[in-house]
Amino acid sequence: DERLAPAPGGKSDKMTSVEIKGITKSYQPGVPVLKPIDLAIKPGELFFLLGPSGCGKSTLLRILAGLVEPDSGSIRFNDVEITRLPPEKRRAAMVFQNYALWPHLSVFENVAFGLRAAGEKKAEIEREVQTALELVRMDGYAGRKIPSLSGGQQQRVALARALAVKPALLLLDEPLSNLDARLRDTMRREIRRICKERKLTAIYVTHDRKEALSMADRLAVMDQGVIRQIDTPEKAYNAPREKFVASFLGDANFIGGQIDSAGRWQTAFGPLDADGISGTPGETVTAMIRPERIRFSDAPGNNVIEARLTGRSFTGESCEWEFEAAGEKFTVIESAPPERTPGRNYLLHFPAGHLIRMR
Ligand code: ADP
Ligand code: MG
Repeated sequence: DERLAPAPGGKSDKMTSVEIKGITKSYQPGVPVLKPIDLAIKPGELFFLLGPSGCGKSTLLRILAGLVEPDSGSIRFNDVEITRLPPEKRRAAMVFQNYALWPHLSVFENVAFGLRAAGEKKAEIEREVQTALELVRMDGYAGRKIPSLSGGQQQRVALARALAVKPALLLLDEPLSNLDARLRDTMRREIRRICKERKLTAIYVTHDRKEALSMADRLAVMDQGVIRQIDTPEKAYNAPREKFVASFLGDANFIGGQIDSAGRWQTAFGPLDADGISGTPGETVTAMIRPERIRFSDAPGNNVIEARLTGRSFTGESCEWEFEAAGEKFTVIESAPPERTPGRNYLLHFPAGHLIRMR
């Protein structure tokens, strides 16, 4: 379809929207890996698929790239149906965890590969390779052989190879998992910078919540072939709709209870006020509060409970305190923590606005 493709290397600056409708996939009969997936990704968005290992993230990404065929459903790029198009017609470039570079070729030849395959002229290829290498800060390495590069440098080359063909869609599958923690931090910022500079639509797969929270414009939390929630990082973290999402994105305290005849929420800690929590008498209600939202209090009051300090884990800038009250355990994270005494009782305030009802 001409509307989709100037060939790789073409000059289309139009940002790509992606619409996924009812995509399903089983590799074996009766074992669905993707239950119907619906997802709309906006032009220029850096979108994350986040979920535990085996939940179907790579399968969905490969379906988008055209490397795996879905059983049903449709995919549209910029309103053009591409579900049955072969990979090379989609202008979707993929970056893999293991780089997948050609070790016997130079950096230049690796990055030039897609442009050569598309029949670009020599001068054009040289220009595009140079531009892509500059973008990933690897200019000056064009003549190097792949095995002489560090893991981080190899991943930059893999990124340059994907960018050189001016993809309509950039797909990244756990691209930083093989790098050490410090390098990963740098590369997170770099990849985000490049996507924004190039106004790329990108879909990034990871099981690492910090990666997703720190980089994403929006993210989808996946579990066993189902998308549980799609939101901005802030909304997904602060207002998860269910336990799985709450726990996957961070530490979470869950509090169970029941609505009493007066409409109040009765918990093991006594009645608690919580914004947005109401129900019919007898109804069971579970809420979540993040450990850093619980505050130490000087005086008793509404939503203040007394609890015994049972443990601590000090990291320098913050401390994770373990508490117990009414037979329930929970954690409190305090930044710039003072010294506190295990075994002692403390008063803790659970702000009504930070008790989030779970579905
Ligand atoms: P993720 O990327 O989230 O870890 P995958 O999409 O790789 O998940 O895998 C989802 C499920 O599909 C897993 O149970 C995995 O074992 C299975 N699977 C993935 N690829 C294949 C394949 N080519 N053949 C059979 N089963 C597969
Ligand atoms: Mg995977």
